[in-house]
Amino acid sequence: MKQMLVEINRSAPAADQLADMLREYRTGKYKNILFHIFSGIADEEGLVQLAKEISRCFDTKLIAGTMSAGEIKDGMMIEPGVLVSAILFERSDVSILRIDDVKGNEVAIGRQVREFLDGVPDLKAAELLFPGTETDTEHMYAEISRCRRDIDIFGGYPGGHKLNSPEHFIFDGTGAMYNTMLVITYAGKDLHFDMDKSIGWIALGMPFKITKAEGKHLIELDGKPAAEVYEKFLQIDRKKHNNAEEAFEFPLIAVQNGEEQLRSVVHIEEDGSFWLHGFVKEGMNIHLTYGDPTNIVSIVNERLKVMRKFKPQAILLYSCVVRKTFWEDFVDMEMKPFAKLCSTCGFHTWGEILRNSRTGELDENNITMLSIGMREGDAPAEEMPEVRVDDTVLQGQASVLRRLTRLVSTTMEELQKAHGRLTYLAERDALTGIYNRGKMEHLIEKALQRGGTASLVMIDLDFFKRVNDRNGHDIGDAVLRETAGIFQESVQDYPGAQIGRWGGEEFFILLPKVDEEKAAAFAETLRRAVDAHAFPTVGHLTISQGVITVHDYKDQKQVYIHVDDALYKAKKAGRNRVEQAPSLYGEA
Ligand code: GH3
Ligand code: MG
Ligand code: MG
Repeated sequence: MKQMLVEINRSAPAADQLADMLREYRTGKYKNILFHIFSGIADEEGLVQLAKEISRCFDTKLIAGTMSAGEIKDGMMIEPGVLVSAILFERSDVSILRIDDVKGNEVAIGRQVREFLDGVPDLKAAELLFPGTETDTEHMYAEISRCRRDIDIFGGYPGGHKLNSPEHFIFDGTGAMYNTMLVITYAGKDLHFDMDKSIGWIALGMPFKITKAEGKHLIELDGKPAAEVYEKFLQIDRKKHNNAEEAFEFPLIAVQNGEEQLRSVVHIEEDGSFWLHGFVKEGMNIHLTYGDPTNIVSIVNERLKVMRKFKPQAILLYSCVVRKTFWEDFVDMEMKPFAKLCSTCGFHTWGEILRNSRTGELDENNITMLSIGMREGDAPAEEMPEVRVDDTVLQGQASVLRRLTRLVSTTMEELQKAHGRLTYLAERDALTGIYNRGKMEHLIEKALQRGGTASLVMIDLDFFKRVNDRNGHDIGDAVLRETAGIFQESVQDYPGAQIGRWGGEEFFILLPKVDEEKAAAFAETLRRAVDAHAFPTVGHLTISQGVITVHDYKDQKQVYIHVDDALYKAKKAGRNRVEQAPSLYGEA
């Protein structure tokens, strides 16, 4: 396999510029040639003409052209222009399936793609090129994802250099297409791929819950228009013209099934809703993010290590346009090292597609850099050179940015730690470490709202005043801590059980899904456990308990009244006893 690249000078005949490629192709060493054309210039006619000419010279239809937001040649951005890549395969088979009328037929097309892929012998990878930003990709990808698990899938969305440019077309020798998908298949018994995405952006601050969304239309976060988050935290005003350009560099990150997915904001509506380049779902938690140069570099370095071991013969880089705007003059930094391994080209995309190797799902990504390595035959024995991102430039100009992002990230980490600690303290009883009354009431409230069966046990230590009077308050405290420990042990076989200190020497235990009989047995076992326990200095102590079981009953106040009543009866009847209150029933 060999990849050759030519940046086309549009004022000279294309055939002359492709002469080297043609000579190589005609050596007879190759079975197939596949062309990619990445164009930053939206000259539909000229591009189709170029594709036609390539088709004629090489007698092939294997040409896939895409509008690009940045053309990557030898791992470097070129001036907006037209880049031709030829990948020459010695033994592998390549094909391109063209599917028209994508929008509106997503599910059917997803199925069609899946059936097509499943039918290609020795298929190793498939590439999808199509304008996906305004397509119902969620449902289409769900279909495609059901294809054979061992097929790698990658791809990118076309689009011009400017945000919201209308130039989302792909092309081949037959025309420029705004609603068509090209499916490129790479098949061969000894054809190998290694592909992955690199991100490096970091989640910032507390999560927001998506409370309203339809596909790529994000409407509400935490019940408020999505734009309020950007207004509050980033001072990005929804009414301002070009607001999306500012929002663009602060994408949202969603963690779904343990996978990070980034979403860039491409348009902010007056009503405060967002249009994203990628679908989201209601109920997802998302964070704001920021690009931390140091982190991005280390993530890319990790990827380079894997790619180097794979020993590729050709690399495609499909990198999000946001990375280009983020890095500005330094964009080559994270791409160049790939080109030290082998010929590397690609484009800046308006969305990146990659099949998730863990889940088998076809993920839609933003802000990622996809690196796709390919190779025919076994990896040669000799090692490839060690490659790393040369980030010396970050020590200079970008150092203020780097330090500020570091300041933000460490501040965030510390705030989050402090927040975690405060939450812990706010919920816990300081003496025993178990939940306090406030937290306990909250848990009971939630359990009642969930409905079904649950039991509650209210516990009061018998004659505890004496313990203090005879041994002092400190010993009393130690007894309370020890008792809480016994309670904790007692619930070990009760899933979801919660224990809290109600106040003084009173405790509360919530036993979800536990009925009358089991609750009585639990309380009796606990009574015996305390009775049998020898407390240092103090000796033996007893407890009295009120128990109540509820079924789909929601009135928390009534529950407390009845269980308290039962406890009072247990005391009256001589202490060291369990008294069960009549069960309470509500409506399911
Ligand atoms: P009864 O069997 O009727 O429940 O008798 P009792 O002595 O346990 O009940 P009473 O309500 O009269 O006394 C409870 C005592 O618990 C009074 C108080 O000194 C003690 N107490 C409450 N909170 C704490 C605490 O945090 N530490 C200590 N050491 N004692 C506490
Ligand atoms: Mg008491
Ligand atoms: Mg007491």
